[in-house]
Amino acid sequence: MKLLILDLDNTVRRPKSGAKFISTPDDQEIIPGSARAIAHYKSQGFLIVGATNQGGVAAGHKQLEDAIQEQYQTLRLCPEIWCIYFCPDYEGQFCWFCTLDPEEISTPIHLGWAANYQGSFRKPGAGMLNAAIENGLGSKNPEHQILFVGDRDEDKGAAEAANVNFLWASDWWESGAANL
Ligand SMILES: [Mg+2]
Repeated sequence: MKLLILDLDNTVRRPKSGAKFISTPDDQEIIPGSARAIAHYKSQGFLIVGATNQGGVAAGHKQLEDAIQEQYQTLRLCPEIWCIYFCPDYEGQFCWFCTLDPEEISTPIHLGWAANYQGSFRKPGAGMLNAAIENGLGSKNPEHQILFVGDRDEDKGAAEAANVNFLWASDWWESGAANL
């Protein structure tokens, strides 16, 4: 079983407008190196999911509904990503699960099956990664191949907290190019 967990902002997507942050759901594009790397990992049989801090909601830069629509737009632009977990608050208490899979339901999971991880959803906490592993693989098993990719120290910290392998986004982009 193989699971690739991706940070999203500046790892997979970036603002189309050149703004510093994505502030409206449509103001985003997939980073070309990321598209190649995703295709490569997909071909290797990885289940691919996203995990993104959305502190912009807590900061008042965007509404929760916009954050949800932003994830849907990423899933439309990048259908290889099965689902996205996002944490909208600074305390890591809340986590949403977003997917376009018709057999799944997008829902807040922080009071449901992922309640055990409450308080650690926000990276560098391990909560979103552990929820992604539980939901995607069932359990953390040494036989499983799990990789988390990100562009910031908080991503590396989350990988360490969840005890999974970590790769910097820039190195991961090259892994796709090297396998074209
Ligand atoms: Mg990032």
